[in-house]
Amino acid sequence: KPRLLEDEDGGVIFLSSSYSSSSSGYGYVSIEKQRQRLPVYKYRTAILYLVESHATTIVVGETGSGKTTQIPQFLKEAGWADGGRVIACTQPRRLAVQAVASRVAEEMGVKLGEEVGYTIRFEDISNPDLTRIKFLTDGVLLREMMDDPLLTKYSVIMVDEAHERSISTDIVLGLLKKIQKRRPELRLIISSATIEAKSMSNFFLSSKRHQALEGEELRPRLEPAILSVEGRGFNVQIHYVEDPVRDYVQAAVSTVLLINDKEPPGDILVFLTGQDDIDAAIKLLTEEARSNGKNSSGLIILPLYSGLTRAEQDLIFSPTPKGKRKVVISTNIAETSLTLEGIVYVVDSGFSKQRFYNPISDIENLVVAPISKASARQRAGRAGRLRPGKCYRLYTEEFFLNEMSVQGIPEIQRSNLVSCVIQLKALGIDNILGFDWPASPSPESMIRALEVLYSLGVLDDDAKLTSPVGFQVAEIPLEPLIAKMILSSNELGCSDEMITIAAVLSIQSIWFSARGAQKELDEAKLRFAAAEGDHVTFLNIYKGFLQSGKSSKWCHKNFINYHAMKKVIEIREQLKRIALRLGIVLKSCETDMQLVRKAVTAGFFANACRLEAYSHGGMYKTIRGSQEVYIHPSSVLFRVNPKCVIYHSLVSTDRQYMRNVISIDPSWLTEVAPHFYQQQRHNPTIH
Ligand code: ADP
Ligand code: MG
Repeated sequence: KPRLLEDEDGGVIFLSSSYSSSSSGYGYVSIEKQRQRLPVYKYRTAILYLVESHATTIVVGETGSGKTTQIPQFLKEAGWADGGRVIACTQPRRLAVQAVASRVAEEMGVKLGEEVGYTIRFEDISNPDLTRIKFLTDGVLLREMMDDPLLTKYSVIMVDEAHERSISTDIVLGLLKKIQKRRPELRLIISSATIEAKSMSNFFLSSKRHQALEGEELRPRLEPAILSVEGRGFNVQIHYVEDPVRDYVQAAVSTVLLINDKEPPGDILVFLTGQDDIDAAIKLLTEEARSNGKNSSGLIILPLYSGLTRAEQDLIFSPTPKGKRKVVISTNIAETSLTLEGIVYVVDSGFSKQRFYNPISDIENLVVAPISKASARQRAGRAGRLRPGKCYRLYTEEFFLNEMSVQGIPEIQRSNLVSCVIQLKALGIDNILGFDWPASPSPESMIRALEVLYSLGVLDDDAKLTSPVGFQVAEIPLEPLIAKMILSSNELGCSDEMITIAAVLSIQSIWFSARGAQKELDEAKLRFAAAEGDHVTFLNIYKGFLQSGKSSKWCHKNFINYHAMKKVIEIREQLKRIALRLGIVLKSCETDMQLVRKAVTAGFFANACRLEAYSHGGMYKTIRGSQEVYIHPSSVLFRVNPKCVIYHSLVSTDRQYMRNVISIDPSWLTEVAPHFYQQQRHNPTIH
């Protein structure tokens, strides 16, 4: 485990090996002792008994009680991984998969990737012969079902963080219920921090009574067992602001400094919404702490969001050195997926980034929206692990009482279902509307998704996957629209460019966020900006990065995130391999960017927009749904305002903004998607 030390500048340097977590030297308790202190430890026998005797066991326990790290080890110790079998544990988030896998490997004293391994998209740190405990995202588990529909190598599958109700978790639950009928020896554990255990239990119970009556002797009990692990959290004092805050980034920073000035030692965990506002907060906090003088020199400020490098992740979990105070600024990943020791103060913005889909307008949006009361309680709870803590809510009590819903809405009911439908189709589930969902998506969303997939040429008239396009799209582990874009680029002769674009689009952002340095960032962007739009700009950046010899200096100079670029290179390599497997020979279109734009259109035609009023700050309307949208200021086409554009995604703040935009010729729309855009020769306002 690494240790945190400060370098001269007050920044943090990373030491890789000088600290061992054994009991000697630093006064930390041994790992075995730590394990025994966790609340689930007392339930070891009960859990093993329930898993033995029940097809499904539901475990509810507070965050940090040891569910994720301990239960797979209990199962392994009890023999569930004997005879070449594997214990799986799924997580909705990639970062959580990496973090818990490395923790469990450490606890077991084994090398990560051998007995304990993990798999996330584009990263497989497991070994088919050696790995006995495998952590993976539920999305990856879905992919594995395509090759092995009954998931035969797994003896127990633990679906963790089920309360998050991510779209993949819900699909996995529905499919596992089916698999269970064919594999009575398979055991499921559904675990979560707060779940309506009863409704989950009813979900697994329904329609099984019959089978139970036919009863083969050896079958486990079909009624799910419910086990609730008591927590050991301390009291957390809640503070509200008196008046609503205007800028929660600024408010969070001020609150951190206030805590640091007034409160006794203890680490601080701040909940913001995403990489952009987290980076902004870090910059602001670093500056203000500097000018604040002596008192703030002991702050170790760290970000926590998906896409962090390994070293950055390790810093988060390292013990805080004496006399220092760690400030972790996080997305809601730290709400329940990860436990940080040492947190005594929580600062909660009250918001998170959430996906919303409106099937009527066919618009999916990432929105910074209020969290639920349940989430707010979880966030506050993070302050009470060590001793009584404090939670500073950057919203009023009234807001909590009146504006926050009791529970969040399952993601499947607020998402575009294109990916979900194609995955079910690829698994041979034809009656999507009749699928047994833990929470049913709306029929309108389903129909929209079917329509888009039909227009993409992925589904045929009978709503079956087409061959080869449908099957190929399903096989590429990217959004179906991107997959289609890659396949079309093969026909158009620009696949080399397109996999670069696909790699960049699968990264949050390749720019360095720069609050306060906006002007410099804009200037840097201009150096690469392409008149065609952001996708082509990415190609310029990629080229520049290669020409610089993949230099971090070059990135720094150009406001480009070096780690993101390295990730792009990595993902691109993987996409290249997948493309070759699908028989795509990489071909470059050299300078003919029209081909690139056409290929983007072939995938993303549903996101086409037309400029309505230049004078109105560049208002666009989606061609299909007539929704008002604007080009995001981060796009190179902001202020350029071409007549017709296609966007990659929407974010919503005061308006709906298009992120990653490319200009197209509207006539291509009817060319690539005649069904979606009924061709009407003399009427350019395509319906
Ligand atoms: P749960 O899944 O119930 O929320 P976990 O199994 O994730 O709980 O965590 C149990 C305990 O293990 C935590 O309280 C923490 O002390 C420790 N732990 C988990 N992950 C790490 C890690 N990456 N580094 C250090 N300690 C960890
Ligand atoms: Mg957990």
